[in-house]
Order: sequence, then C-alpha cells, then structure tokens
Amino acid sequence: MTEWLQCIECGTRFDILEVRYTCSCGNLLSVERDGIVDRDAFDDRRTSRAPIDQSGVWRFREGVLNVDRAITHPEGATRLYERMGLLFKHEGENPTGSFKDRGMTVAVTQAVRVGARAVACASTGNTSASLAAYAAQAGLRAIVFVPAGKVASGKLAQTLAYGATVLQIRGDFDAAMRLVREACDRLGIYLVNSINPFRIEGQKTIVWELLQDLDWSAPDWIVVPAGNLGNTSAFGKALREAHAHGWIARMPRLASIQAHGANPFYRSFTESFGTRHRIAAETVASAIRIGDPVSHDKAVAAIRDTNGVVEEVTDAEILAAKRTIDGLGIGCEPASAATLAGVTKLKAAGVMREDERIVCVLTGNILKDPEANYRAENVVEIDASIEAVERVLA
Ligand SMILES: *Cc1c(COP(=O)(O)O)cnc(C)c1O
Ligand SMILES: [Zn+2]
Repeated sequence: MTEWLQCIECGTRFDILEVRYTCSCGNLLSVERDGIVDRDAFDDRRTSRAPIDQSGVWRFREGVLNVDRAITHPEGATRLYERMGLLFKHEGENPTGSFKDRGMTVAVTQAVRVGARAVACASTGNTSASLAAYAAQAGLRAIVFVPAGKVASGKLAQTLAYGATVLQIRGDFDAAMRLVREACDRLGIYLVNSINPFRIEGQKTIVWELLQDLDWSAPDWIVVPAGNLGNTSAFGKALREAHAHGWIARMPRLASIQAHGANPFYRSFTESFGTRHRIAAETVASAIRIGDPVSHDKAVAAIRDTNGVVEEVTDAEILAAKRTIDGLGIGCEPASAATLAGVTKLKAAGVMREDERIVCVLTGNILKDPEANYRAENVVEIDASIEAVERVLA
C-alpha cells in the first residue's frame, strides 16, 4: 500500500514524509492511499491484548497510517451508550478526556517519523492537553498557543501538568491559530492543529469505531459539535472511505452543530456554502468558540457528500442539553452537549424523525470545564450537627 499527501483542490501529490500543511495553491492537504481494505481484521483485533490493537485508532491502521512504530496510549475504544432512544459515543473516555487523542496519536507519530524535535498547536484547551500528553510520551518539546483567560481550568491544568510551554495570547483562538502557523513556518516547529492532515486520519476512527460498535450497520445520522471543523471533515472522509471499501452499505447523514455565537459554518450552509464567513466568536462552549475554522473547505465536502446539515443552537439550549446528559449519569463538557441540543431542534423541525437511529458524539469529558458544572442551588453549608442535617433534608 502506498500513501501520499494530496491537495484537496488541484490534486497535486506530495511525498508522505514532506512537512507541509497546505498545497502551493494554498488549499488544504489530505492523506490518500491506494488499495481496498477488508474490515475483518478490525473485528479480530478487538480481542487482542497488543496495545496497538487495543487502540481504537491503530486497530484500523490500514486506513489510518502505515508506520512501524506508533506513539499510542492506547486511545479510543470508547463506549457507545443507548439512552433516551439515542446513541451516545463518549469520546470523553479517551486518555486525556477528549477525542483530540485520536488525532494526536497519529500526528505525534508522524512528528517522530519526520524527525521533529518540537511540536506546537493553537488550542481552546483540549488539543493542548492532548498534545502535551503525547509529546511527553514521545519525548518532544510541546508549545501551545492559547487565548489568554479563555481556556477551561481542567484543560489548562492538564496541559501544564504534562509539561508543555503555554503561550497565552492576548487575542482569541483565531488569532492564536494565525500566530502558531507563522511561528511553525519560521521556527521549524511541527504543527499539529487539525490543519495537519494526519490529525484527520486519526479522527476518522471515531466514525469507524462507532460503525464497528453497531456491527457495521450504518445509523441514519451522526451528530457532532463543530468548531474548527476538523471533526466534521474527518467524519466525511471516514464515511466516504467506509463506503468505498464496502464496510457499510449506505451513507449516514452528518449533522454538524454550531453555537449561535460561533456559527460561521452555519451561516455558510444557509447560503448553500456560497460564502465563507469569518466572525468574532463568543459562546459558553469554549471548545467551539472559533470564528474562522481552518478546515472549512473539507467540511463543506463532508456535508455535501453525506447529504448532511448544519444547525446552530443557543448557549441556553447547550446548557439545558448538558443538564440532561449529566442527569443520565454520563456527563460531558458544554460543547459536547451541542449535539443533543441540535437533535432536539432538528427533530422539532422535522429534519430528523423519531424512528431514525441517531448517534451523538460526545466530544469531551465532564471534568474538563469544572466551572460549567457548579450548581450553587445543590450546595448547602451547615453546622456539624444532626439537627442541621434533618432541617435541610426535611
Ligand atoms: C475540539 C473540540 C470540538 C470541536 O471540534 P472541531 O474539530 O474543532 O470542529 C468540540 N468539542 C470538544 C470537546 C472539543 O475538544
Ligand atoms: Zn493545490
């Protein structure tokens, strides 16, 4: 099997070991390969004890990346829960608590493969936590660019604990993203944002694993929160490839959900993707507080190829959905709850039907954003006496 990098627009091919993130024409690159892959081996590996097989990413390695040595935790192998007539794939069960580990194991593996000494990303928090962990494992220096004061405390704590250098940028995520691209170019640092096509290869396995969880019978819908649009892009590629390899008989539809205050992709969708929007983003869901998503063009293809939709939900709808998911005993961070909020809205609009099988991808763990979990109304301070306990519980 041969693998190469390919421009999504002009089709120019580059060597798989070349360090570049865009084509000379300016467009994004994707990892492509030849040959047809049989899915039987994937099922056999589920009972293997080897870390490489236990990884929910590298279990699918023939469709992810052909390497001798992977930097794996292992990651993935997350559970699929059936609740309220919906399915929830909980990517918050990954080693650092978000789906970002699926892309990061591949990007850091590639970083080692091309001889990188330092790796960097811009992040709203989860990418940096994941990068910091995988870079620590690989013995690489990690440098993260985050919007100052805008990262949830759980994510920042992880990033620091794993030993990354944190550059707090006076500006928003989009400013941090522009800066890290320039810094990586100038300083020869390996960039692992989702503009890096190897991230996308790893994130495809969210979809492949959930299809495998369902014994390869495709659901009607796969629902995902949308920020920088790496996941939306990865899901589209995963479904195209699963279909091309004959792993599934029909394509599920994608539903990408944005926060109303961070909705450039939704705006484009409502105009049949005629215009690419760039906005100043604001939402309680910090993981999707992004106004200029780098993977816009790939995500457009993902929505088109899956007959998908893009929806927007308000912060109040996101927080209400989070309470519902937390109340199921599963829990998630705010951005992840945009999925359920989106499903509620799309069902009300008749886009999704009650009898359809819908998988919501919960992208992050409940502990990521502790501030969003605090419920003052459930907390009572009392004297250390049994009478006080009785009075409060009466
Ligand atoms: C990164 C992230 C998202 C957004 O994913 P994109 O690929 O940037 O669209 C959503 N939820 C969580 C928890 C994330 O960490
Ligand atoms: Zn090109």
